[in-house]
Amino acid sequence: MSKILIVEDEEAIAELERDYLELSGYEVVIENNGKSGLDKALHDSYDLLILDLMLPQVDGFEICKKVREAKNVPVIMVSAKKDDVDKIRGLGLGADDYMTKPFSPSELVARVKAHLARYDRLLSSNSPDNDILEIRGIKLDKTARRIWVNGEEKQLTAKEFDVLSFLAMNPNHVFTKEQLFKELWGTDMVGDIATVTVHIKKLREKIEMDSTNPQYIETIWGVGYRFRL
Ligand code: CA
Repeated sequence: MSKILIVEDEEAIAELERDYLELSGYEVVIENNGKSGLDKALHDSYDLLILDLMLPQVDGFEICKKVREAKNVPVIMVSAKKDDVDKIRGLGLGADDYMTKPFSPSELVARVKAHLARYDRLLSSNSPDNDILEIRGIKLDKTARRIWVNGEEKQLTAKEFDVLSFLAMNPNHVFTKEQLFKELWGTDMVGDIATVTVHIKKLREKIEMDSTNPQYIETIWGVGYRFRL
């Protein structure tokens, strides 16, 4: 049974969400403030998070950012204001979905189902034994070190391939430039953190339709990069 954490300070809304999700067979935990919500999200195991934006103590922005640095779990953000939803989407916080309150509980359940199914599909195709990784039009052959975007093969340098496959094998996880440098250049003893930025830029030019509006490798504001599921 999938376990869902709801972080929401309006108790009536939290309970309504919980009731609908429980009827659909999910196990649900509610936290009413941002601090305990963040704590639970980081230290307990959940299959999906539903995060309100405005929360006492720690807001939904901060929770989303912290969770993204540590975990690969779908996050649905909710806000009372349409403007906020547009703003947070623009910031690229790394949430998987955004909803404006009030929404219909059945709409929420439908989105929860869709995101859980998407993660399941990806995690099953993304096992270490599986040499071929496929995500939204990208096909990566880890053994042959070849990559196709929408069926068209792209030529990457060895390091570009390493960066892309590392990010794609850890989808939705946000890595800082420092982490990527340590992970992928750590033993080379050459270059510096700016190298990471240069490689990401080159990669985007090769794999993205529009490298100024990347669909695969996203910049997460104030944190780093992630490969979006
Ligand atoms: Ca609130």
